Amino acid sequence: MAIIIFTFGAIFGSFLNVLIYRLPEGVGVVRKKSHCPKCGKTLKWHELIPVLSFFLLRGKCSGCKAKISWQYPAVEIISGLIWILVFFKIFNFQFLIFNQFSISNFQLLAFFYQIFILSSLVVISFIDVRKMIIPDKIVYPAIFVSLLYNLARKDILIPLAAALAAFSVFYLIIFFSKGRAMGFGDVKLAALMGLFLSYPDILAALWWAFVLGAIFGIMLIAVGRKGLKSQLPFGPFLALGTLIAYFFSWKMFINFIINLSI
Ligand SMILES: [Zn+2]
Repeated sequence: MAIIIFTFGAIFGSFLNVLIYRLPEGVGVVRKKSHCPKCGKTLKWHELIPVLSFFLLRGKCSGCKAKISWQYPAVEIISGLIWILVFFKIFNFQFLIFNQFSISNFQLLAFFYQIFILSSLVVISFIDVRKMIIPDKIVYPAIFVSLLYNLARKDILIPLAAALAAFSVFYLIIFFSKGRAMGFGDVKLAALMGLFLSYPDILAALWWAFVLGAIFGIMLIAVGRKGLKSQLPFGPFLALGTLIAYFFSWKMFINFIINLSI
């Protein structure tokens, strides 16, 4: 079961790779056939198998031997794992207790909604790493879908309040740091996180984002890769914080903090 779900996720991940590469360049997402960015060689079907092709080609283009970015298999593997985790988070009970495959429409909707938002976060993170921008073309549709979903669930007030609170905090950080700490893209992303996670999970997500960002920043300075003043894209840490808060609930987060302080 897990292998089938992972395969679907990995195939979806290769579509995310296309978005990650083509969206910032303004190239049509569906028009062009997949090709090597160095020599332009059109890829054959066996060079387009998610995850596997990268390893079969030993990470090199079969035409010009140029290195293929590790980003391709990484995004496909991350997407596959997200599909498995979301699947078992939503449908777990049925399998363990009833051992039968009966899914309600609402669970199916929840599944695709959560895949959609988490995949948006993957695309945002990888574009932020490459280009230091958080693309409106991803973040706005995600916010819109999240609003609709919460409306359909008739649970809009608390997520909306969480989104506004996260938005305001980040807006103030930008205002007082004069844009040095983070960009306006991070503010929109924080609002999306509030809508998706609601209260109190948004707090756990932001805590993880700042802690992981700080640890990573200190590590980079320690190994001399970055100076104190250079910028680090914050989007990936917000996405990572969201993933952690989504898969481990607020209660587990509280227990974790309590265990740390004992
Ligand atoms: Zn090539």
